[in-house]
Amino acid sequence: MQITDTHSHIYLPEFEADRANMLSRAGKEGVSKILMPAIDSSTHQQMLEFENLNPAQCIAMMGLHPCSVKQNFREELALVKKYLSERKFVAVGEIGLDFYWDKTFAADQYEAFHQQIDWALEIERPIVIHSRNSTDECIQVVKEHQLGKLKGVFHCFSGNAAQAKQVIDLGFYLGIGGVLTYKNSGLDKVMENVDMKHVVLETDAPYLTPVPFRGKRNEPAYLNYVVEKLAVIKNTSVEEVAAITTANAETLFGKL
Ligand SMILES: [Zn+2]
Repeated sequence: MQITDTHSHIYLPEFEADRANMLSRAGKEGVSKILMPAIDSSTHQQMLEFENLNPAQCIAMMGLHPCSVKQNFREELALVKKYLSERKFVAVGEIGLDFYWDKTFAADQYEAFHQQIDWALEIERPIVIHSRNSTDECIQVVKEHQLGKLKGVFHCFSGNAAQAKQVIDLGFYLGIGGVLTYKNSGLDKVMENVDMKHVVLETDAPYLTPVPFRGKRNEPAYLNYVVEKLAVIKNTSVEEVAAITTANAETLFGKL
């Protein structure tokens, strides 16, 4: 069984002490490919070094996270642009809007989001969208750019059925992870009516740890709990969930 974790920050300091073991645990559970979303210049270097050490399993994106859009965001964007011009990345991400913590830089978040979507279109790469407390706003931005060529995923999708439909109608995927296992998230009900061909899996490690490890550090090996939950919801086998989501990841991101 092969599983693709399409969103994992395994280059962060949370994994300092056991990086090699964490990767081998993932491999043992069938998580053979792990996509790493970028955050900002404070961690780009660690991410790229980690990819360098584990090129068969770990694949980097490039982008500026909306929570890292601050006074200096234009410098950060220039750096993203430089990286994107120097080599190939699997996606532009993670990018988007985050209105959960603070809206001080909302206008700048929009500017950074639009700009990075334009770059993704130029280099013909998918985008990975962070849409915390901003699902409708992110859908609107994607709509403005969707002339048929834009591809991507709403990472950590946690919207309602109507929002899921809008995302799918835009040709985008739903990134599903640990939240699916949380009681009262409502995501299980939404997923009952979503065709599996629109779904990719993700951990968002070290965050959003699935039950039964909720509250602890998340890691790619735990993706199995999400696979199991999805198999129950969709009344299918774990093998089928793994196969279709892995195929979807390759349709979206290209051969991994
Ligand atoms: Zn993330």
